[in-house]
Amino acid sequence: MFHLPHSRPVRFFILPVYVCRYNVGDQFQNAKLVSIMFELVFLGTSASAPSAERNLTSTLLIHEGTRFMLDCAEGTQRQILKSGVGFKDLRRIFLTHGHLDHILGIGGLASTLGQWDVPVGSKLEIYGGRWALDRVRDLMKVVMRGKEVEIDIEFIEIKPGVLVQEKNLTVSAFNVLHRGTGNFGFVFEEKSKRPFLVERAQTLGIPVGPERKKLVAGESITLADGSVIQPDAVLGELVPGTKFVYVGDIARINEVVEQARDADGLVMEATYLDQDREIARKHGHITAAEAAAAARDANVKQLFLTHISRRYSGYLVHAEASTVFPNTIVCNDLDRYIVKREKNQGD
Ligand SMILES: [Zn+2]
Ligand SMILES: [Zn+2]
Repeated sequence: MFHLPHSRPVRFFILPVYVCRYNVGDQFQNAKLVSIMFELVFLGTSASAPSAERNLTSTLLIHEGTRFMLDCAEGTQRQILKSGVGFKDLRRIFLTHGHLDHILGIGGLASTLGQWDVPVGSKLEIYGGRWALDRVRDLMKVVMRGKEVEIDIEFIEIKPGVLVQEKNLTVSAFNVLHRGTGNFGFVFEEKSKRPFLVERAQTLGIPVGPERKKLVAGESITLADGSVIQPDAVLGELVPGTKFVYVGDIARINEVVEQARDADGLVMEATYLDQDREIARKHGHITAAEAAAAARDANVKQLFLTHISRRYSGYLVHAEASTVFPNTIVCNDLDRYIVKREKNQGD
Protein backbone atom coordinates (compact mmCIF):
# COMPACT_ATOMS: atom_id res chain seq x y z
CA MET A 1 0.00 0.00 0.00
CA PHE A 2 1.38 3.38 -1.02
CA HIS A 3 0.21 6.65 0.43
CA LEU A 4 0.45 9.49 -2.01
CA PRO A 5 0.34 13.12 -0.92
CA HIS A 6 -3.29 13.65 -1.87
CA SER A 7 -6.34 13.11 0.24
CA ARG A 8 -6.59 9.36 0.59
CA PRO A 9 -4.49 6.26 0.34
CA VAL A 10 -4.47 4.50 -3.00
CA ARG A 11 -3.63 0.90 -3.65
CA PHE A 12 -1.13 -0.22 -6.21
CA PHE A 13 -1.10 -3.68 -7.63
CA ILE A 14 2.26 -4.37 -9.15
CA LEU A 15 2.75 -7.35 -11.38
CA PRO A 16 6.24 -8.87 -11.29
CA VAL A 17 8.54 -6.36 -12.87
CA TYR A 18 10.78 -6.97 -15.79
CA VAL A 19 14.04 -5.24 -14.89
CA CYS A 20 15.75 -3.54 -17.77
CA ARG A 21 19.38 -2.81 -17.03
CA TYR A 22 21.14 0.26 -18.24
CA ASN A 23 23.72 2.66 -16.90
CA VAL A 24 22.55 5.85 -15.32
CA GLY A 25 24.12 8.74 -17.16
CA ASP A 26 24.28 6.91 -20.44
CA GLN A 27 23.11 9.53 -22.89
CA PHE A 28 21.49 6.87 -24.94
CA GLN A 29 19.25 5.47 -22.22
CA ASN A 30 15.93 6.72 -23.60
CA ALA A 31 16.23 4.69 -26.77
CA LYS A 32 16.68 1.33 -25.16
CA LEU A 33 13.97 0.96 -22.57
CA VAL A 34 12.29 -2.32 -23.30
CA SER A 35 9.33 -3.01 -21.13
CA ILE A 36 7.22 0.01 -20.30
CA MET A 37 3.86 -0.39 -18.68
CA PHE A 38 0.36 0.87 -18.32
CA GLU A 39 -0.85 2.80 -15.33
CA LEU A 40 -4.53 2.58 -14.53
CA VAL A 41 -6.42 5.16 -12.50
CA PHE A 42 -10.01 4.26 -11.68
CA LEU A 43 -11.79 7.61 -11.52
CA GLY A 44 -15.27 6.15 -11.08
CA THR A 45 -16.46 2.59 -10.53
CA SER A 46 -20.25 2.76 -10.11
CA ALA A 47 -22.93 1.38 -12.41
CA SER A 48 -25.85 3.48 -13.70
CA ALA A 49 -26.04 5.99 -10.81
CA PRO A 50 -23.44 7.26 -8.35
CA SER A 51 -23.34 6.17 -4.72
CA ALA A 52 -21.77 7.87 -1.72
CA GLU A 53 -18.66 5.76 -2.23
CA ARG A 54 -18.49 5.43 -6.01
CA ASN A 55 -18.64 7.93 -8.82
CA LEU A 56 -19.91 6.92 -12.25
CA THR A 57 -17.62 5.21 -14.73
CA SER A 58 -14.39 6.66 -16.02
CA THR A 59 -10.90 5.23 -16.13
CA LEU A 60 -7.61 6.86 -17.05
CA LEU A 61 -4.97 4.80 -18.80
CA ILE A 62 -1.45 6.23 -18.99
CA HIS A 63 1.22 4.85 -21.27
CA GLU A 64 4.63 6.50 -21.61
CA GLY A 65 3.08 9.79 -20.53
CA THR A 66 0.22 9.56 -23.04
CA ARG A 67 -3.20 9.64 -21.42
CA PHE A 68 -6.31 7.89 -22.62
CA MET A 69 -9.61 8.54 -20.88
CA LEU A 70 -11.95 5.57 -21.10
CA ASP A 71 -15.52 6.84 -20.75
CA CYS A 72 -16.24 10.14 -19.04
CA ALA A 73 -19.20 10.12 -16.70
CA GLU A 74 -20.74 12.98 -14.78
CA GLY A 75 -18.47 14.01 -11.89
CA THR A 76 -15.27 12.90 -13.58
CA GLN A 77 -13.60 16.31 -13.25
CA ARG A 78 -13.60 16.19 -9.48
CA GLN A 79 -12.36 12.62 -9.54
CA ILE A 80 -9.43 13.75 -11.71
CA LEU A 81 -8.59 16.38 -9.11
CA LYS A 82 -8.98 13.97 -6.21
CA SER A 83 -6.77 11.41 -7.93
CA GLY A 84 -3.96 13.94 -8.18
CA VAL A 85 -3.30 13.16 -11.87
CA GLY A 86 -4.56 16.56 -13.06
CA PHE A 87 -5.91 17.69 -16.44
CA LYS A 88 -2.59 17.98 -18.25
CA ASP A 89 -2.45 16.31 -21.67
CA LEU A 90 -5.98 15.02 -21.36
CA ARG A 91 -6.88 15.09 -25.01
CA ARG A 92 -8.20 11.66 -25.94
CA ILE A 93 -11.48 10.15 -24.78
CA PHE A 94 -12.55 6.66 -25.85
CA LEU A 95 -16.23 5.85 -25.38
CA THR A 96 -17.30 2.24 -24.94
CA HIS A 97 -20.89 3.22 -25.78
CA GLY A 98 -23.34 6.09 -25.56
CA HIS A 99 -25.26 5.51 -22.32
CA LEU A 100 -25.50 8.57 -20.11
CA ASP A 101 -23.57 7.02 -17.22
CA HIS A 102 -20.54 6.95 -19.55
CA ILE A 103 -20.69 10.27 -21.42
CA LEU A 104 -22.25 13.05 -19.34
CA GLY A 105 -18.94 14.33 -17.99
CA ILE A 106 -17.65 15.34 -21.43
CA GLY A 107 -19.57 18.63 -21.47
CA GLY A 108 -18.14 19.78 -18.15
CA LEU A 109 -14.64 18.62 -19.01
CA ALA A 110 -14.71 20.48 -22.35
CA SER A 111 -15.96 23.58 -20.56
CA THR A 112 -13.03 23.48 -18.12
CA LEU A 113 -10.43 22.73 -20.79
CA GLY A 114 -11.88 25.52 -22.94
CA GLN A 115 -11.24 28.06 -20.19
CA TRP A 116 -7.52 27.46 -20.30
CA ASP A 117 -4.94 28.56 -22.80
CA VAL A 118 -4.40 25.44 -24.82
CA PRO A 119 -1.47 25.12 -27.22
CA VAL A 120 -2.22 26.04 -30.84
CA GLY A 121 -3.44 23.02 -32.78
CA SER A 122 -4.42 21.17 -29.62
CA LYS A 123 -7.86 19.57 -29.68
CA LEU A 124 -10.04 17.15 -27.79
CA GLU A 125 -10.38 13.85 -29.65
CA ILE A 126 -13.50 11.82 -28.89
CA TYR A 127 -13.58 8.25 -30.21
CA GLY A 128 -16.89 6.41 -30.18
CA GLY A 129 -19.49 4.48 -32.14
CA ARG A 130 -21.88 6.47 -34.32
CA TRP A 131 -24.72 6.45 -31.81
CA ALA A 132 -22.47 7.49 -28.92
CA LEU A 133 -20.98 10.31 -30.99
CA ASP A 134 -24.41 11.52 -32.09
CA ARG A 135 -25.39 11.81 -28.43
CA VAL A 136 -22.17 13.61 -27.50
CA ARG A 137 -22.57 15.99 -30.47
CA ASP A 138 -26.05 16.89 -29.21
CA LEU A 139 -24.66 17.44 -25.73
CA MET A 140 -21.86 19.63 -27.06
CA LYS A 141 -24.30 21.78 -29.04
CA VAL A 142 -25.58 23.07 -25.71
CA VAL A 143 -22.11 23.39 -24.21
CA MET A 144 -20.63 25.24 -27.19
CA ARG A 145 -23.68 27.38 -28.04
CA GLY A 146 -22.85 31.06 -28.48
CA LYS A 147 -19.13 30.25 -28.34
CA GLU A 148 -19.46 30.08 -24.58
CA VAL A 149 -16.82 27.37 -24.67
CA GLU A 150 -14.06 27.50 -27.24
CA ILE A 151 -12.27 24.25 -27.78
CA ASP A 152 -11.61 22.25 -30.92
CA ILE A 153 -13.27 18.86 -30.78
CA GLU A 154 -12.70 16.08 -33.26
CA PHE A 155 -15.26 13.28 -33.32
CA ILE A 156 -13.74 10.04 -34.58
CA GLU A 157 -16.17 7.28 -35.41
CA ILE A 158 -14.97 3.88 -34.35
CA LYS A 159 -15.00 0.81 -36.55
CA PRO A 160 -13.56 -2.50 -35.40
CA GLY A 161 -9.80 -2.56 -36.04
CA VAL A 162 -6.82 -0.32 -35.40
CA LEU A 163 -7.66 3.17 -34.08
CA VAL A 164 -4.29 4.52 -33.04
CA GLN A 165 -0.86 3.45 -34.19
CA GLU A 166 2.06 4.98 -32.33
CA LYS A 167 5.73 4.20 -32.06
CA ASN A 168 5.34 1.78 -29.21
CA LEU A 169 1.59 1.30 -28.93
CA THR A 170 -1.35 0.07 -30.97
CA VAL A 171 -4.93 0.74 -29.88
CA SER A 172 -7.67 -1.25 -31.55
CA ALA A 173 -11.41 -1.64 -31.09
CA PHE A 174 -13.70 -4.66 -31.22
CA ASN A 175 -17.47 -5.03 -31.17
CA VAL A 176 -19.26 -6.13 -28.04
CA LEU A 177 -22.93 -6.76 -27.38
CA HIS A 178 -24.81 -4.49 -24.97
CA ARG A 179 -27.98 -2.50 -25.68
CA GLY A 180 -28.33 -0.67 -28.97
CA THR A 181 -25.60 -0.48 -31.60
CA GLY A 182 -22.00 0.65 -31.60
CA ASN A 183 -20.65 -0.85 -28.37
CA PHE A 184 -16.89 -1.40 -28.24
CA GLY A 185 -14.06 -2.86 -26.24
CA PHE A 186 -10.46 -1.66 -26.63
CA VAL A 187 -7.12 -3.46 -26.86
CA PHE A 188 -3.96 -1.53 -25.95
CA GLU A 189 -0.85 -3.38 -26.97
CA GLU A 190 2.79 -2.41 -26.79
CA LYS A 191 5.12 -3.46 -29.54
CA SER A 192 7.54 -6.28 -28.79
CA LYS A 193 11.13 -5.07 -28.41
CA ARG A 194 14.66 -6.36 -28.13
CA PRO A 195 16.64 -4.87 -25.21
CA PHE A 196 19.92 -3.09 -25.90
CA LEU A 197 22.73 -4.93 -24.07
CA VAL A 198 24.80 -2.09 -22.70
CA GLU A 199 27.54 -4.21 -21.17
CA ARG A 200 28.06 -6.07 -24.42
CA ALA A 201 28.21 -2.78 -26.31
CA GLN A 202 30.85 -1.53 -23.90
CA THR A 203 32.87 -4.71 -24.29
CA LEU A 204 32.74 -4.27 -28.08
CA GLY A 205 33.89 -0.66 -27.73
CA ILE A 206 30.76 0.90 -29.22
CA PRO A 207 30.73 4.55 -28.18
CA VAL A 208 27.71 6.16 -26.55
CA GLY A 209 25.78 8.16 -29.14
CA PRO A 210 24.37 7.75 -32.67
CA GLU A 211 26.12 4.43 -33.33
CA ARG A 212 24.06 2.78 -30.62
CA LYS A 213 20.91 4.37 -31.92
CA LYS A 214 21.58 2.88 -35.36
CA LEU A 215 22.07 -0.58 -33.89
CA VAL A 216 18.74 -0.36 -32.03
CA ALA A 217 17.13 0.69 -35.30
CA GLY A 218 18.44 -2.50 -36.89
CA GLU A 219 21.33 -0.99 -38.84
CA SER A 220 24.93 -2.22 -38.74
CA ILE A 221 27.75 0.18 -37.90
CA THR A 222 31.48 0.41 -38.65
CA LEU A 223 33.78 1.30 -35.78
CA ALA A 224 36.86 3.51 -36.10
CA ASP A 225 39.09 0.41 -36.33
CA GLY A 226 37.10 -0.79 -39.36
CA SER A 227 35.25 -3.62 -37.60
CA VAL A 228 31.57 -4.01 -38.52
CA ILE A 229 29.01 -4.59 -35.74
CA GLN A 230 25.66 -6.17 -36.56
CA PRO A 231 22.54 -5.35 -34.45
CA ASP A 232 22.28 -8.97 -33.28
CA ALA A 233 25.55 -8.52 -31.42
CA VAL A 234 24.05 -6.03 -28.98
CA LEU A 235 20.30 -6.78 -28.96
CA GLY A 236 18.80 -9.34 -26.58
CA GLU A 237 15.89 -11.74 -27.00
CA LEU A 238 12.56 -10.32 -28.15
CA VAL A 239 10.48 -9.18 -25.15
CA PRO A 240 6.72 -9.18 -25.79
CA GLY A 241 4.97 -5.89 -25.03
CA THR A 242 2.32 -5.49 -22.38
CA LYS A 243 -1.30 -6.08 -23.43
CA PHE A 244 -4.22 -4.38 -21.72
CA VAL A 245 -7.91 -4.76 -22.59
CA TYR A 246 -10.76 -2.51 -21.51
CA VAL A 247 -14.40 -3.52 -21.84
CA GLY A 248 -17.42 -1.40 -20.92
CA ASP A 249 -20.98 -2.62 -20.47
CA ILE A 250 -21.65 -5.99 -22.11
CA ALA A 251 -24.47 -8.49 -22.36
CA ARG A 252 -22.25 -11.54 -22.93
CA ILE A 253 -18.58 -12.44 -22.79
CA ASN A 254 -18.22 -14.27 -26.13
CA GLU A 255 -16.58 -11.37 -27.96
CA VAL A 256 -14.17 -10.62 -25.13
CA VAL A 257 -12.47 -13.97 -24.68
CA GLU A 258 -10.58 -14.01 -27.98
CA GLN A 259 -9.67 -10.32 -27.89
CA ALA A 260 -8.35 -10.56 -24.34
CA ARG A 261 -6.28 -13.68 -25.01
CA ASP A 262 -3.14 -13.68 -22.77
CA ALA A 263 -3.66 -10.04 -21.75
CA ASP A 264 -1.73 -8.79 -18.73
CA GLY A 265 -4.69 -6.77 -17.52
CA LEU A 266 -8.43 -6.87 -18.31
CA VAL A 267 -11.04 -4.41 -17.07
CA MET A 268 -14.64 -5.62 -17.17
CA GLU A 269 -18.00 -4.69 -15.78
CA ALA A 270 -19.56 -6.67 -12.92
CA THR A 271 -22.95 -5.05 -12.66
CA TYR A 272 -24.81 -8.04 -11.24
CA LEU A 273 -24.26 -11.14 -9.14
CA ASP A 274 -25.22 -14.60 -10.31
CA GLN A 275 -28.34 -14.58 -8.09
CA ASP A 276 -29.69 -11.79 -10.35
CA ARG A 277 -28.59 -13.28 -13.67
CA GLU A 278 -32.05 -12.90 -15.19
CA ILE A 279 -32.12 -9.18 -14.42
CA ALA A 280 -28.63 -8.88 -15.92
CA ARG A 281 -29.92 -10.49 -19.13
CA LYS A 282 -32.87 -8.13 -19.25
CA HIS A 283 -30.65 -5.04 -19.00
CA GLY A 284 -27.82 -6.21 -21.24
CA HIS A 285 -25.25 -6.79 -18.50
CA ILE A 286 -23.20 -9.65 -17.14
CA THR A 287 -22.50 -11.04 -13.68
CA ALA A 288 -19.26 -11.03 -11.67
CA ALA A 289 -18.95 -14.78 -12.25
CA GLU A 290 -19.29 -14.31 -16.01
CA ALA A 291 -16.61 -11.59 -16.07
CA ALA A 292 -14.34 -13.94 -14.14
CA ALA A 293 -15.07 -16.77 -16.58
CA ALA A 294 -13.99 -14.53 -19.46
CA ALA A 295 -10.70 -13.75 -17.69
CA ARG A 296 -10.13 -17.42 -16.96
CA ASP A 297 -10.96 -18.57 -20.50
CA ALA A 298 -8.81 -15.83 -22.05
CA ASN A 299 -5.85 -16.71 -19.79
CA VAL A 300 -5.42 -13.12 -18.63
CA LYS A 301 -3.08 -12.34 -15.74
CA GLN A 302 -5.20 -9.89 -13.79
CA LEU A 303 -8.89 -9.03 -13.85
CA PHE A 304 -10.12 -5.63 -12.65
CA LEU A 305 -13.86 -5.35 -12.02
CA THR A 306 -15.70 -2.04 -12.20
CA HIS A 307 -19.24 -0.71 -12.93
CA ILE A 308 -20.34 -2.01 -9.53
CA SER A 309 -24.01 -1.71 -8.62
CA ARG A 310 -25.13 -0.02 -5.42
CA ARG A 311 -27.16 -3.11 -4.61
CA TYR A 312 -24.07 -5.21 -3.73
CA SER A 313 -21.01 -4.80 -1.55
CA GLY A 314 -17.64 -5.04 -3.25
CA TYR A 315 -16.89 -7.94 -0.94
CA LEU A 316 -19.73 -10.04 -2.39
CA VAL A 317 -18.72 -9.18 -5.95
CA HIS A 318 -15.16 -10.26 -5.19
CA ALA A 319 -16.28 -13.44 -3.44
CA GLU A 320 -18.29 -14.52 -6.49
CA ALA A 321 -15.65 -13.64 -9.10
CA SER A 322 -12.61 -14.95 -7.26
CA THR A 323 -14.03 -18.45 -6.94
CA VAL A 324 -13.95 -18.58 -10.75
CA PHE A 325 -10.81 -16.50 -11.31
CA PRO A 326 -8.63 -15.87 -8.23
CA ASN A 327 -6.62 -12.96 -9.70
CA THR A 328 -9.56 -10.60 -9.43
CA ILE A 329 -9.61 -7.12 -7.97
CA VAL A 330 -12.88 -5.26 -7.37
CA CYS A 331 -11.84 -1.67 -7.96
CA ASN A 332 -12.74 1.31 -5.82
CA ASP A 333 -12.71 4.94 -6.90
CA LEU A 334 -9.21 6.42 -7.13
CA ASP A 335 -7.49 3.03 -7.06
CA ARG A 336 -4.30 2.99 -9.14
CA TYR A 337 -2.59 -0.04 -10.57
CA ILE A 338 0.39 -0.87 -12.71
CA VAL A 339 -0.08 -3.41 -15.50
CA LYS A 340 3.17 -4.81 -16.80
CA ARG A 341 4.23 -7.94 -18.62
CA GLU A 342 6.08 -10.51 -16.61
CA LYS A 343 9.52 -11.54 -17.69
CA ASN A 344 9.50 -14.58 -19.95
CA GLN A 345 5.72 -14.54 -20.23
CA GLY A 346 4.68 -15.66 -23.67
CA ASP A 347 8.18 -16.93 -24.49
ZN1 LIG B 1 -23.07 1.75 -17.73
ZN1 LIG C 1 -24.66 0.88 -20.85
